[in-house]
Amino acid sequence: MGQHEMEPWYFSPYPSSYTAADMVHICEFCLSYSENITSFERHRAKCTLLHPPGNEIYRDDNVSFFEIDGRRQRRWCRNLCLLSKLFLDHKTLYYDVDPFLFYCMTTRDSHGCHLVGYFSKEKESAEGYNVACILTLPQYQRKGFGRLLIAFSYELSKREGKLGSPEKPLSDLGLLGYRAYWAETVVDVLTEEGRGPEISVEEIGALSAMTTADVLHTLQNLNMLRYSVSCLPTPLRYSIPFTALESTSYTLRSGTTSNTPIRKVNTSSSSQTPSSNKKKNKS
Ligand SMILES: [Zn+2]
Repeated sequence: MGQHEMEPWYFSPYPSSYTAADMVHICEFCLSYSENITSFERHRAKCTLLHPPGNEIYRDDNVSFFEIDGRRQRRWCRNLCLLSKLFLDHKTLYYDVDPFLFYCMTTRDSHGCHLVGYFSKEKESAEGYNVACILTLPQYQRKGFGRLLIAFSYELSKREGKLGSPEKPLSDLGLLGYRAYWAETVVDVLTEEGRGPEISVEEIGALSAMTTADVLHTLQNLNMLRYSVSCLPTPLRYSIPFTALESTSYTLRSGTTSNTPIRKVNTSSSSQTPSSNKKKNKS
């Protein structure tokens, strides 16, 4: 594909005759495929596409994003699904691409816009998912592109005024990417310059377009969420030690109201709380 030779990771339902082929040639622009180098070169000589067949909706110095409607570009989107299945274990969508939009990230040079990765998104998601499938092609992995894809999906959610979360299950690599993104985003929000002493989980969600569940799981994974028994019983409070980043910790007061403020408290005072009185939050 393009200048790259890739080794597939998983099965993908390309035509059965391809199983015996040494190499499958994929046009990097229209994503059509051929096992025969002569017919592939014939195709390349007449293929006029230089970017994904949709609207360019974002551009910076060398990256462009394109939005492609699955209903309007069925063949291209089906080809994209076949290609991405080679590198995604759980993916099941190949054929019915109509209900999806595909957001494709490319790098630009004088030869055209080269596909780096993409995510698909249901046009109407009853569950509020903002990503269905997400993939950075192997030749572009470990370069920060995955993070950009995830960030882009949340920027779209912000524009829609919604909170979003990716569809489950995530691939192993997807889960790693999301965990890193969520942690970085939550810490960025908490340490933002000018941030007041209190912030609620809902406010973190509203600022980042992350769901409350994802914010809470992230705080839990970062081991930033604890009961602070000195403030019990009602409303329940959690203290979030944050000493690695600054000499304060956060206290989250979990009540029945929708606003559950996190309050910065001195590490010294929270460290006086007997550890036996602290329990990890399991919500
Ligand atoms: Zn082509």
